[in-house]
Amino acid sequence: MDKIELHAHFSGCIRFTTLQELTIRQFGQDHEINFKKCTTLEQCFILFAKINSLNLKLDDIRRIADEIFQDFYNDGVTYLEIRATPKKGQDFDQLQYLNAISDSINKAKFNIKLIVAIDRAKSIEEAEKTYKLIKKNKIQHLVGVDLCGHPGVGHFLQFKPILQKFRDLGYKITVHTGELKQQIEENNDVIDFKPDRIGHFIYYTEEQLNNIKNLNIPIEVCFSSNLFTTNMQPNCHPVKDFISKGIPIAICTDDTLCFNTTITKEIQLIQKTFEYSNEFMSQILKESLNYKFKQE
Ligand SMILES: [Zn+2]
Repeated sequence: MDKIELHAHFSGCIRFTTLQELTIRQFGQDHEINFKKCTTLEQCFILFAKINSLNLKLDDIRRIADEIFQDFYNDGVTYLEIRATPKKGQDFDQLQYLNAISDSINKAKFNIKLIVAIDRAKSIEEAEKTYKLIKKNKIQHLVGVDLCGHPGVGHFLQFKPILQKFRDLGYKITVHTGELKQQIEENNDVIDFKPDRIGHFIYYTEEQLNNIKNLNIPIEVCFSSNLFTTNMQPNCHPVKDFISKGIPIAICTDDTLCFNTTITKEIQLIQKTFEYSNEFMSQILKESLNYKFKQE
């Protein structure tokens, strides 16, 4: 089976043991993370708070990147698009951060591309800064831009002009949408923009789903992530409807750290839940190769 990953966040894919080590290095043994994997949403937020509180060095970023890429490689992934929100650290600025990830990509044993993520919970000025950074500097392996962050904060329309500017530079666009019920209205604005892909899309109207189908917009399905954050029963997940309606999908992890998952686990979980045959599953995975932002 061809395994690719199109929706994985850099910070959400740090190895648990590495996060633990970096946390203890900075805050001491007392601040050890006292669970092995997240079983509640609160624990996910604890992990993200830990990650954001770390004052990292460029060598840490290189190490984290190398490990993430090694983990996907070990899982049999042959093509990865990793998304990262530009960050600053002890001895690096946002450009050096992105370049460090690019350097690790150069050393990886398989094909990896980079997506820059815009956090909708941050200001437009911050997004504008990222745009200027990307416009001014050639970032190796960069193929697309993602709108992500807390779905309950900000609105797609605020970021639409910036996304259009990225599109004008030639980058592909993916948007996290329909993660919360309250985003159903917002979905219309996202669909009007015709992103190259959308992420999640678990809350929508039938009309919106038909529009997605007619526009042939692939959905990045993050099965475990959705079950975890919504308490949805596996067999109620809409991926079954996407597949039966012939809507293009790619099976993704979102955050391997938070959901203690891998692409292989996600594929198996969907296959088992909906009792798809091996042949059918292989076909789905083969089709998802068409939704890469960079076709070789
Ligand atoms: Zn995501």
